Amino acid sequence: MRMSRLLAPTLREVPAEAEIASHKLMLRAGFIRKSAAGVYSYLPLGYRVLQKIMAIVREEMDAAGGQEVLLPILQPAELWHETGRWDDYGEEMFKLKDRNDRGFCLGPTHEEITTALIRHEVRSYRQLPLLVYQIQNKYRDEIRPRFGVMRGREFIMKDLYSFDRDDGGLDESYWKMYHAYERIFSRCGLNTRPVEADPGAIGGNMTHEFMALAEAGEAEIVYCSHCDYAANVEKAECMTPGVESTGQLEPLTKVSTPGMRTVEDLEEFFGRPASDMIKTLIYRSGDVVVAALVRGDHAVNPTKLARAIGSLEVELADENTIEEVTGAPRGFAGPVGLKGCRIIADPAVMNIEAGISGGNAVDVHLKGINPKRDFTPDEIVDIRMAKPGDPCLCGKGTLQGARGIEVGQVFKLGTKYSQALGATFADEEGEEHPLIMGCYGIGVSRTMAAVVEQCHDQDGICWPISLAPYHVAIVPVNYRDDEQRAAAERLYHDLCEVGVEVLLDDRDERPGVKFKDADLIGFPVRITIGPRALANGQVEVRWRTSGEEYLIFLNEVVTHVQDRITRSIEDVELACRH
Ligand SMILES: [Zn+2]
Repeated sequence: MRMSRLLAPTLREVPAEAEIASHKLMLRAGFIRKSAAGVYSYLPLGYRVLQKIMAIVREEMDAAGGQEVLLPILQPAELWHETGRWDDYGEEMFKLKDRNDRGFCLGPTHEEITTALIRHEVRSYRQLPLLVYQIQNKYRDEIRPRFGVMRGREFIMKDLYSFDRDDGGLDESYWKMYHAYERIFSRCGLNTRPVEADPGAIGGNMTHEFMALAEAGEAEIVYCSHCDYAANVEKAECMTPGVESTGQLEPLTKVSTPGMRTVEDLEEFFGRPASDMIKTLIYRSGDVVVAALVRGDHAVNPTKLARAIGSLEVELADENTIEEVTGAPRGFAGPVGLKGCRIIADPAVMNIEAGISGGNAVDVHLKGINPKRDFTPDEIVDIRMAKPGDPCLCGKGTLQGARGIEVGQVFKLGTKYSQALGATFADEEGEEHPLIMGCYGIGVSRTMAAVVEQCHDQDGICWPISLAPYHVAIVPVNYRDDEQRAAAERLYHDLCEVGVEVLLDDRDERPGVKFKDADLIGFPVRITIGPRALANGQVEVRWRTSGEEYLIFLNEVVTHVQDRITRSIEDVELACRH
C-alpha cells in the first residue's frame, strides 16, 4: 500500500472527547472515527488490525473444535420471553418493532438464538459435544458509552456456545476454551490474567474473566503475592482476620453522639480505631430488607451480600426504609435490639470484643458491644470487599491490587437456557435430558483497544507484530529525489514479493512529518532511505518497540527483515503451545 493513497487521516491534536490512551491514539492514528456515542467506524488501518485479531481467534477456536456459524443480529422477542430475559435485560437492550408490530431486539448476546437453533437440530448424545461460535456485532445501550471502542454500544464479539451431555463434558469444554483464550491473548501480544469472577445475572456456577492489566481498566482485581489466586474484587474471598482476645469485656453503654454519622466522626469522638466499629448498612432487594454488618475499616461487597440473601442485586435502602426498620435516621443504625429486618454479619465483626455502633435512635451510639453477647445475626457470612493488603486464603501471601480490562470470559451455564427453551437430547436408552451449556466470549474490538493501552509510548502505538496493520513502513527522506525514489520503489516491490506487509510513504512531505506518522501508527519496522547511507548502498532499519536502530545493505534488507518478522511471530506461537 502507498501512503499517498491510504485513507489514514492522522491528527496532531489530541481529540477533546478522548480520555484514555487507546482512545486518543486510535483516533489520532486514523484507525477509527466516531459515528454516534459508542458507535464507531473502522478505517482501513483499524480494520486490518481487527481482521488480524479475528484470524487468531478463528484459528484457535477451530483448533479447539469450534465450528463457525453466523447468527442473526435481529432477534425475535418471543425467544427472550421464553427465558424471561426480555424484561430482565432492561434498558440496556435495543428493542424495536417490525411493520406488523412484532417485537425484536438487536442481539446483546446470543444464548437464546443459539439454544433455539440447537434444540431443533440436536437430538442425540451422538451429536455431542458440540461447539459453535461466531464473530459478530453486539448491541448494548450502555448508560455511559466511553473510552472509544472499549465500552461501545455497538461492538464486535466472538461468542462460542458449548453443548455437552454431562458435567464432565462441560468441564472439558470449559478448560479447552480457557486454554484457547490464554493462547489467543498471548498471540495478540496482550498481558492478561484469568481471574475468578461472580456468575451474577447470567446464571451458572463457574466463570473466569480474562483481564488485560492496565491502569485504564474499569475492573478491580486482586491477586496473591504467593499463590495463583486471582479474582475480581466482587468475587474475591476474604479471610477472617484473627484477633487476640484480651478477655476484657466492657459493659454495654449508651452514648450521646449528636450529628455523628460516619466512621471518621466516631473514630475521633471515641478515640478508637475504625476496626472497633460495627458498620451497619441497610440494603434492600425488592421487598426484602437486610442489615449488613461489617467492621468500620471494611466495605460491604454488594455482590456477595446479594448472593447471601439469594437475590441478584441489592441496593442501599432509602431514608424512609431506614427509619422504618431502625427507628432512626441514616447513620445511627446498629445491630443491638434491631428487630425490623434480617441481620447478615461478616465474620470479622463477630471477632470484635468491645465494639461501637449506632443505637437505633437519633444521636445515640452504643459502646462496649460484644457481638457474641449482645445480638444474634441471622447469618454470619463473608460479605466484605477484599482489598489490597488483605491476607490470601492460602495463608502465605498478601493480596495485591490491580486494574484490568475484561477482554474475555468463560462461563459454565449449566441447564439454565436449555431448560427454559426445551433443548434436550436423547441418551443411549432414549431418555431425554437438557443439554449442559457453556458460553465463552471475547471482546474483539475491546481487545484491540486493550493492546493499544498496553503497547504505546509518548509517540504513538507500538503494535505487536502479530497485529500490526503493516509490518514495515518504508520512508524515503525525499521521495522526489530520483535515487531515493528508485531505491524505495525497488525495496517496496521486493518486500511485497516475499509477502511482507509493507507500506511505502510516497508522500511529498517533510521527513519529520513522515517519521511522526510512522511512530503514531506504530509500524513495528521503519526502513529509512536517506541520501548519506544510500551513497554507501545502505538503508536504516529501526524497530519501533525496542528502539533498536542500525544500517544494513540494501541487498540484504529484504531477507533480514523478513526473517526477523517470521521468527518473532513463530516464537510467540511456539511459546503458546507449551
Ligand atoms: Zn495465596
